[in-house]
Amino acid sequence: MEKLVELKALLASPQKVTIVTHFKPDADALGSSLGLAGFLKNTGHRVSVVTPSDFPDFLAWLPGSHEVIALSKHTSEPLQKATLAFQTADIIFCLDFSNLSRINDLADIVRKAPGKKVMVDHHLEPEPFSDFQKWSVQAASTAQLVFELINELGGKAHLDAAIATCLYAGLMTDTGSFRHNNTTAREMAVASELISLGANPSEVARLIYDVNSLSRLKLIGYALYKNLVVYPEYHTACITLSQEELKMLNVQTGDTEGLVNYGLSLKDVRLAVLMYDRGEEIKISFRSLGDFSVNDLARKHFEGGGHKNAAGGSSKLTLEQTMKKFLDLLPQYKTSLS
Ligand code: 5GP
Ligand code: MN
Repeated sequence: MEKLVELKALLASPQKVTIVTHFKPDADALGSSLGLAGFLKNTGHRVSVVTPSDFPDFLAWLPGSHEVIALSKHTSEPLQKATLAFQTADIIFCLDFSNLSRINDLADIVRKAPGKKVMVDHHLEPEPFSDFQKWSVQAASTAQLVFELINELGGKAHLDAAIATCLYAGLMTDTGSFRHNNTTAREMAVASELISLGANPSEVARLIYDVNSLSRLKLIGYALYKNLVVYPEYHTACITLSQEELKMLNVQTGDTEGLVNYGLSLKDVRLAVLMYDRGEEIKISFRSLGDFSVNDLARKHFEGGGHKNAAGGSSKLTLEQTMKKFLDLLPQYKTSLS
């Protein structure tokens, strides 16, 4: 099934569809998944959405999110449900990731599942595991690729305000509210269409950005005051957070989202890093300006990847060792950072 006509033919009769997105989904991951789920339900398919972990509270208002099968550290029931959903699916949609390592424990289950696999994504260097791909690194978000795919399938008439809202949420956040350099006429055109379909820009922005918990604001204040370090010769800013600090600040899933951008907002900083200790591993976020590729940096040294200017990775070393490893790498990037 390499062609759009084949996918279209498959979707011409009711199918059992399972949608999965990456570990610790952000608004693009969850919004694109719920938007696609809404469209497929409207066109007569049976749909399940699976996330390999919990997702942030600030996304719990997204239409359809209460039906998500979210894997949990505390109970094995969602994993059993998800496994069944994959094993019995005619089609598995993989959204906002293109390397199976991004779905952690579900990778093997999805790889071995008998259904057709469709990947919709905008991350660099995809792995060839799917039967059909809607993939573009030029696209700022997976949500807009879902919108384009629905158009190509001739399904626009089945979109509604709830679907448009989910997709708009993904597009808005992955463009940094239309501020990042991935914002082009194409993103604005899709945003315009989604608004025409009923997405409310100020409402979506409010529900995602203006719902800080006190603990999240205190985390930001603490991290900037105590742990932000600038390395002027490398135009680099770093924030680290230990497990003890995360515990002390009562940090919840999603609270660290966007924190790395404060480093990048400093004048003359071209590379910003956030490292925090999740216990099982150190999670790292990278952001850059211009030609410096954090995708390359994350891929080469921190088992990660992403986009040229926004990437993530992880490390099994301690926080101190991970930081030392990073600082030891900086001299070799001095020219490309200046
Ligand atoms: P964030 O820093 O916000 O977690 O992620 C930035 C970008 O890099 C996102 O597009 C995200 O999907 C991607 N990313 C984050 N962590 C990883 C990772 O561990 N591996 C890969 N391949 N991509 C990641
Ligand atoms: Mn995305």
